[in-house]
Amino acid sequence: MRKIVLINPWIYDFTAYDLWARPVGLLYLASIIKNNIEDKEIHFIDCLDRFSEDVRKKLKFPPSKEDGRGKFYKERIKKPEIFSDIPRFYSRYGITEDMFIERLLKIGKADLYLVTSTMTYWYPGVHRAIEIIKKLFPESQVWMGGIYPSLLYEFAKKNSGADFVFKGRAENSILPLLKKLGFKVKEIPVFKNMDELPYPDYSLQSRHPYLPFMTSIGCPYRCPYCATKILSPRFFQRDVKNLFNELSYYKEVYGIEHIVFYDDALLINKRRRLLPLLNTLKKNSINFSFHTPNGIHVKEIDRETADAIFESNFKTLRLSLEIGVEKLTDKLAPKLKLKDFEKAIVNLINSGFKRKQLETYILFGHPLQKAQDIRDSFKFVSQFEVPISFSYFSPIPGTEDYNGLVEKGVIREDEDPLIQNKIAFVYLKSNLKMEEIKEIKEAVSQYNTKVKS
Ligand code: SF4
Repeated sequence: MRKIVLINPWIYDFTAYDLWARPVGLLYLASIIKNNIEDKEIHFIDCLDRFSEDVRKKLKFPPSKEDGRGKFYKERIKKPEIFSDIPRFYSRYGITEDMFIERLLKIGKADLYLVTSTMTYWYPGVHRAIEIIKKLFPESQVWMGGIYPSLLYEFAKKNSGADFVFKGRAENSILPLLKKLGFKVKEIPVFKNMDELPYPDYSLQSRHPYLPFMTSIGCPYRCPYCATKILSPRFFQRDVKNLFNELSYYKEVYGIEHIVFYDDALLINKRRRLLPLLNTLKKNSINFSFHTPNGIHVKEIDRETADAIFESNFKTLRLSLEIGVEKLTDKLAPKLKLKDFEKAIVNLINSGFKRKQLETYILFGHPLQKAQDIRDSFKFVSQFEVPISFSYFSPIPGTEDYNGLVEKGVIREDEDPLIQNKIAFVYLKSNLKMEEIKEIKEAVSQYNTKVKS
C-alpha cells in the first residue's frame, strides 16, 4: 500500500480570518487519485483546520460563528525584515508546528506529499511545511502546486524545496506523474472542463459546517488588478443539472446547511445558470443558507435576481463596487457604473434584504487611488447605509497593474514576493500616508459599527 499525504499549509500574515476557505483544488485531486489509483492510502493534514477535536481541545481561540466562519488559532512570529516599518504584528495562522509534526509522524513515512498554496506572499508557510516534511522524511517526494507557483513558478521552483512544482491546474497532469513515480494507475481520464471532474473529496475533512461551491470558473471581465484571467483564462459555466446533482449529494451525504459560492462571476448569465439552479432546488425542497464572500456583480442585480436570491436564503452578500468615484470606474471597475450600485441596493432592499447584510467592497491602496478617492468612495457608499469592507490592493504577478508598477520602478520583478502582501503594499508602496490609513480606517470602522447595529 502506497501513501499520499495532502497538505494545506499555514498562513503567515498580519491578519487572516477564515471566510469559509477550503483547499478545494487539493480535494479535487484527492478524488481523482482515489478514483484512479490502486493500492493507495490518502491522508489529509489541514494546517488551517479549526474544527477537529484535537484542535479544539488543545488550542485556545474563539468559537466559530453559527455559519462556520471564524478566527484561526494564531501565534505571533518574528516579522521579516522587509516589514520592519509596518506597525502591525505578524503571525502564523493555523495549528502549531508541534501538531503538524505529530500528525505527520502519526501517518508515518509517505511516498508522496502534495502541498497546496494560495497567496504568493504566504509562501513562508508553504516553504516551512515542505522544510519540516523534508527533515522528517528526506527520501519522500514533495510536490507543490496551487495559486502561488502558478503565478510565481520560477521563484517557487528555486526556493520552495519541493521536488516538483506544478504550474497551473493539476487535474490532468497528476495521474501521468504518479504513474511515472510507480503508482498503479487504473486509468488516465482527460478532464475537458469542470463538469467532468469528480466532486472534491470533502470526506477527508474533519467536519462539514459549510462547503465551498462553484457554478463557474473564470470571469468574462478583465480588471487590471485581478489574477482570474491568468489562473482561469476561459470563463466556463457549469451545467445546471450537474450543479443540482452535486448540491443534492452534499445535502444527502453531509447534511450541509451552508453553501459558500466562490465563483468570480456568479451572476453572469444568471438566467441560464444560477436562477434555474435556485428554482430547481426550491422545487425539490432542498434548502441551504447561501453566502457570497467573493463579491457579486452589482450590475446584474435586477429585481428578479434580488427576489430569487432573497427567497433562496442568501444570508451573506458581498457587493463588488471597488470604487465610488466616477472618474476612476472605467479604469478600476469596468464592470459597473455607480448608478448600477444604487439600483442594486434599491432592488435588494425592496426584495427584503436588510441594509446591514449588504456589505460592500471598496478598493484600498490601489496605485491610482489617493486618500481623497477612498474618502469619496466611503462618502458615496455611506449614503446607502450599508457596511463597507476594504479590499486591499495587492500587486499580483502577471496582472496589468503589477506590470505597470514594475515598469514604473515602484516594485522590482526580483523583489521578495512578500512585498505583494496587501497590508505591506498599502503601508510601503501605495499613495497613502500612515496617518491617512489610520484616519480612513477609523472613520469606516465607526461607520460600520453604526450601520451594523
Ligand atoms: S470582475 Fe472580479 S473576477 Fe472579474 S476580472 Fe474583475 S475583479 Fe476579477
